[in-house]
Amino acid sequence: MRSNLLGLDAQGMERFFAGLGEKPFRARQVLKWIHRRGAADFAAMTDIAKDLRAKLEASAAIEPPAVVGDGTAQDGTRKWLLKVDGANAVEAVFIPEEGRGTLCVSSQAGCTLDCAFCSTGKQGFNRNLSAAEIVGQLWLANRALGFHDKPGAWGEPRPVSNVVFMGMGEPMLNLDAVIPAARLMIDDNGYGLSRRRVTVSTSGVVPGMDRLAAECPVALAVSLHAPNDELRDRLVPINRRYPIRELLAACNRYLERAPRDFITFEYVMLDGVNDSEGHAKELLGIAAEVRCKFNLIPFNSFPASGFRRSGADRIRRFASVLQSAGLTVTTRKTRGDGIDAACGQLAGDVADRTRRTQVVPLTELRA
Ligand code: SAH
Ligand code: SF4
Repeated sequence: MRSNLLGLDAQGMERFFAGLGEKPFRARQVLKWIHRRGAADFAAMTDIAKDLRAKLEASAAIEPPAVVGDGTAQDGTRKWLLKVDGANAVEAVFIPEEGRGTLCVSSQAGCTLDCAFCSTGKQGFNRNLSAAEIVGQLWLANRALGFHDKPGAWGEPRPVSNVVFMGMGEPMLNLDAVIPAARLMIDDNGYGLSRRRVTVSTSGVVPGMDRLAAECPVALAVSLHAPNDELRDRLVPINRRYPIRELLAACNRYLERAPRDFITFEYVMLDGVNDSEGHAKELLGIAAEVRCKFNLIPFNSFPASGFRRSGADRIRRFASVLQSAGLTVTTRKTRGDGIDAACGQLAGDVADRTRRTQVVPLTELRA
């Protein structure tokens, strides 16, 4: 089988070239061709000798996922549906904003964790994505946004200035692929993004947080969603394994290595479930233990979710309790309406292997 070079980070690429009896600088050259210039075949790599190119063609390939859907919402948010194999497709979303462009990437086809309010979770799980399938989302987005095509275009502004692992899946349960993909994103021979502009979001898989801190510390977002274990156990079931106290300790360990001096706590606003002033006051206790900022996410609905989005007034009151205590709070704007591209709406096409889609969802979790 030919190796897919798209997913190899600097180390992996050097190992590959060493296997061909080639020098390490070849690895850097090919990394630049693939990621900075968007090369899709070896023939384009004009500064590489013809006989080496022939060797590469025989033993390797550059294979991104296939784009099978491509839609743009009124607000410019663009969503791609990417076929990763015969049975599964995942989604990547580009969110253009004033002064920056954020790509939201998926890390798994589905998710095993089954958070009560998440459409991906309700779809069940099929498999982990490979590093090539993850970084391939950025490679494809850059191409689709016309970035790679312009000669000498590498520089500012670039269409994708930030990457967030907030699409389908739990990145901390697929670190063998997420780490090389994130390394390529921050590698100067790759996408050259600052560590602070690559954010991994986790529902709180504590061992994964420690591993990421050790191997590739990038910015971290933690999906908190509840101020106490009783409620969080129901909304984010992984809490039963790693309760809030352990999660906060892991956040503090992460901060010792993190490129930013705070953790972003994400908090989905579910009407009448976790959005009272009392809940906000309870959160202050958590905020006293970890340097953090809050990102409130108005719930995005999907069929049969069983939850409603908190009203704007309720969200404002909740935010003001946190702000009065000196915390930084942002409320995420809902983007990608009309193409189901908002947080928690990504569902792709997952051949569920957990049989979760066959059970009636939510019954156990409803308050
Ligand atoms: N598995 C990771 C990353 C993917 S989800 C995690 O859970 O952090 C990215 C964010 O979207 C998380 O904070 C998640 O809790 C949130 N989210 C999930 N479903 C949502 C929904 N229906 N509406 C709004 N946000 C949602
Ligand atoms: Fe998985 Fe994150 Fe969705 Fe929870 S919120 S089910 S961890 S993708």
